Amino acid sequence: MAEKKKPASAKKSSAKSTTKPAAAAKKGGAKKPSAKKTAPKTAAPKKSSAKKAPATPSLQTSSIPSLKPAQRPVGQGKPRQVVIIGGGTGGIDVAARLVRVLGAGKITIVDPAQHHDYQPMWTLVGAGQVTKESTRRNMESLIPKGVEWLKDAVVDIQPERNLVKTKGGKTLEYEYLVAAPGIQLDWDKVAGLKESVGKGPVVSNYAYDTVDSTWQAIQSFKGGTALFTMPAGLVKCPGAPQKIMWLMEDHLRRNGQRNKAEVVFASAGAAIFGIPRYREALEKLLKARGVKTLFGHNLVAVDARNHVATFETMDTKQRVTLKFDMIHVTPPQSAPDFIKKSPLAGEGGWIPVDKHTTQHVKYPNVFALGDATNMPCSKTGAAIRKQAPVLVNNLQRLMMGQPLNPGYDGYASCPLVVTHNKVIMAEFGYDGKIMETFPIAQNKPRYSMYLVKRYLLPKLYWDFMMKGRA
Ligand SMILES: Cc1cc2nc3c(=O)[nH]c(=O)nc-3n(C[C@H](O)[C@H](O)[C@H](O)COP(=O)(O)OP(=O)(O)OC[C@H]3O[C@@H](n4cnc5c(N)ncnc54)[C@H](O)[C@@H]3O)c2cc1C
Repeated sequence: MAEKKKPASAKKSSAKSTTKPAAAAKKGGAKKPSAKKTAPKTAAPKKSSAKKAPATPSLQTSSIPSLKPAQRPVGQGKPRQVVIIGGGTGGIDVAARLVRVLGAGKITIVDPAQHHDYQPMWTLVGAGQVTKESTRRNMESLIPKGVEWLKDAVVDIQPERNLVKTKGGKTLEYEYLVAAPGIQLDWDKVAGLKESVGKGPVVSNYAYDTVDSTWQAIQSFKGGTALFTMPAGLVKCPGAPQKIMWLMEDHLRRNGQRNKAEVVFASAGAAIFGIPRYREALEKLLKARGVKTLFGHNLVAVDARNHVATFETMDTKQRVTLKFDMIHVTPPQSAPDFIKKSPLAGEGGWIPVDKHTTQHVKYPNVFALGDATNMPCSKTGAAIRKQAPVLVNNLQRLMMGQPLNPGYDGYASCPLVVTHNKVIMAEFGYDGKIMETFPIAQNKPRYSMYLVKRYLLPKLYWDFMMKGRA
């Protein structure tokens, strides 16, 4: 599984650091704060941002700890201005924006991964529409010019001392930290899953290593029960567990196999979708297409040999078993372990940030975005597209001693692929506020929205978001 492999691949000897020349860095339009102004100890205005931005009432920039040279870890070089943990969706977007503001040589991304994946496309990989190779790029090709990449895994974060330590034995001191380490896939929380996923009838779109097993299983399905599961707790792209269910149901229908199959969606949740506008549309589809649902059922074991899935009911904790001929599993997910055990972690292990400014609630010189945070939005790349500019703007404001801007409204989007060429384009913000982009009823399955998902959004991601321009 990709998530497990990544940290392991960051061998001590292979840890390396590359910096690209800052060709474009100086062209940035924003005012570059001076070195003095950017130092956390000097950035504190007497009046904190709190008065003008009630979302961050208790934060004082003056409380940012600053190490004197003598206290610095020996032999680790000068402190970085900004260290970014993770070069995924959030980390690259932030780095690309920030280097335009700060210039070259100020930012270090730490990430052990050799590759960066456009995960939203894995839904269509699982349905055989695109190859998984087309979703992957070399990490190096995405590191913005002027940004240093340390190919290593962070294992320890000490925000009181403004430093992070890596698996490869490096200690990096920072003035500002951005945490974007993503979410962890906990395959081993379902008994029998880790050993069986990606083989035969047990499949999952949730990792690069297993995503093509979904299409193989769909093609070799000869009838019987096709089971799709959604775990308890938070997951990235909460729509993805059902998207592949709709795609398989549609595939069976178009290939004259639908009457030989029972399609079952078993979810620990209480409904097919959280937002009423889209839930109602999806409930109609469930009925029209004869999909069986089992809500309040959390998958706890997979017996791949005997094709048996075991669930625990959410209310009475009873065990329920179901025979399957194919099962698509969305694994349980949580904050990465190294975050959970760090002082950055809050309730449930997530990184607690102000949900409008993205600033850490305890450490003012720490910001976070994406799947690892406790922001009560849907964990999606779409959410990050709106979080990244707010984060970068607020980091600049903090550096210049200005009040923070509570600019993130919880926006997220979920292109619910419901047939091979139709999408319900859900877009919503905090408290379920509908935030649709197009002047059409987006709660209806539409070919035009499929084109957006299939062609427009990948382009937006690679050519704009990964360059900090979306
Ligand atoms: C099947 C599927 C379908 C999806 N569909 C959609 C969709 O339609 N629309 C949408 O908007 N979103 C979708 N998403 C969700 C979206 O891909 C994620 O929400 C987004 O990529 C999260 O970005 P992130 O930066 O938080 O984490 P990631 O992009 O996962 O990046 C985290 C990075 O941190 C690195 N890292 C991990 N541990 C360490 C460490 N110890 N030290 C340093 N670095 C570390 C990792 O190597 C990785 O590069 C989907 C996801 C999946 C799996």
